[in-house]
Amino acid sequence: MDRLKLVVVGGGITGLAAAHRAVELARERAIALDLTLFEARTRLGGTIGTERADGFLVEVGPDSFLSEKPWALALCRRLGVEDRLVRTDDRFRKVFVWRAGRLHPLPDGFQLLAPTKFGPFVTSGLFSWPGKLRMALDLILPRGVSDDESLGAFVRRRLGREALERVAQPLVAGIYTADPDDLSLAATMPRFRELERRDRSVILGLWRAARRAPLDGTSGARWSLFVTFQNGMEELVTTLASRLPPGATLLKQRVDEIERRGGRWRVVSAEGSLIEADRVIVAVESHISGRLLRYVDPALATLLGEIPYASSATVTLGYRRTDVPHPVDGFGFVVPRTEHRALLACTFSSVKYPGRAPEGHVLLRCFVGGALNEGVLELDDATLVARAREELRQALGVTAEPVLTRVSRWAKAMPQYHVGHGGRVEAIERCTAALPGLHLAGGAYRGVGIADCIRSGEAAAERALGVESVVSDRFDRAESP
Ligand SMILES: Cc1cc2nc3c(=O)[nH]c(=O)nc-3n(C[C@H](O)[C@H](O)[C@H](O)COP(=O)(O)OP(=O)(O)OC[C@H]3O[C@@H](n4cnc5c(N)ncnc54)[C@H](O)[C@@H]3O)c2cc1C
Repeated sequence: MDRLKLVVVGGGITGLAAAHRAVELARERAIALDLTLFEARTRLGGTIGTERADGFLVEVGPDSFLSEKPWALALCRRLGVEDRLVRTDDRFRKVFVWRAGRLHPLPDGFQLLAPTKFGPFVTSGLFSWPGKLRMALDLILPRGVSDDESLGAFVRRRLGREALERVAQPLVAGIYTADPDDLSLAATMPRFRELERRDRSVILGLWRAARRAPLDGTSGARWSLFVTFQNGMEELVTTLASRLPPGATLLKQRVDEIERRGGRWRVVSAEGSLIEADRVIVAVESHISGRLLRYVDPALATLLGEIPYASSATVTLGYRRTDVPHPVDGFGFVVPRTEHRALLACTFSSVKYPGRAPEGHVLLRCFVGGALNEGVLELDDATLVARAREELRQALGVTAEPVLTRVSRWAKAMPQYHVGHGGRVEAIERCTAALPGLHLAGGAYRGVGIADCIRSGEAAAERALGVESVVSDRFDRAESP
């Protein structure tokens, strides 16, 4: 083969990471690579986007990535942009839970599902005494037997209903926008399943792990758990795009069909482009991948279409600091489903990261919708803003007009790892293994966060260029984006 023709479909972070890794590898191994990346929209980045308005910096989608998962940080190092990263302001590392009309701080040391520090847990007003005693029962309960149980069933079984309703459900909704009774524990939080298997008790397992190596990822580490870029997440997108060969990226080209002809692939866009390729990386939402591959392998297309997606929206509001009576002394708050609100969560963006609001102002980012409350997305923008403002009035006491308002909608953008997801992904991988030259990547398979998407895109590029993968592509530490 003289030149290797590679087509990447989708210009979100997964497609960009795949294209960039392919270019890197081609350079390192002296492979003559001819790359084309198709992106349907007018801009690259997919759900990642940053806007600047009136001195505010607004993230329309993700606001950070997890440094604990190494792939995003490693990419930043290779791109030479590690010095552009900023850490969270850990003086305000508190998260609140909105319950019964008040914001309660999540007890210090509470790790997603269970407490790890005795004092803050017993004195917390977030849980009732029966609820606390039920959580402590985890210390003596025997191991469970289920292989792929839902996250909701696991938390109810080990720690009780209160732990699920008041913490696990709202925290998980803030990450996966999902119903914990549908989510697969094995696919989303395998660490907790392993803790039960190894230590029997989740609380004991977390204590022991914290003694061995602090899990908060901050002690001694250069980076906080979540990091972002000085000028917002879009910096990652523009940096990656600038490293691709000139002319490789085709915007406003919606791929309509992928066909297999002999040993090669034909990628056809709705706008009339047709490119023949040796290798194709499909890095779009899996329901779209399924449609594109419907004639290549109908069984694969069905499996891809079966991965459900949830819709969500962000409502970002900027206020004068003096108009917000609450001290906003935390990263934000989450809202349990049992509170029957439109908000899933609210991030105090200008407290969490520097440079998000002009002097004397605060930026609050509300997250609405998700698998448990998609109906709210039928509201028009003005009504959605009014709902968010009313709930912020109740939570933070803010009644003033915001000085900035932005609504970003994300239809069917968040994959849901339901019980059985692991088996479905393995079946998808078996199908693609029988289609030489075709590679799937993205948040639909083995991790929904940006770091996971980078790993998935880079692993696909390595497979496409026939290079032994250096990144493991399993469900390890996939617990949060
Ligand atoms: C509101 C929100 C907040 C989030 N917050 C965080 C966070 O803080 N941290 C974190 O780690 N993760 C977060 N996530 C998840 C993270 O943003 C995504 O997992 C990740 O960005 C997905 O990247 P992707 O490239 O796989 O998919 P996408 O970003 O969906 O990109 C897919 C791309 O493919 C293009 N495309 C689709 N169909 C076609 C076609 N037929 N032809 C050509 N192109 C096509 C699309 O236009 C899009 O650009 C958040 C997600 C959402 C929705």
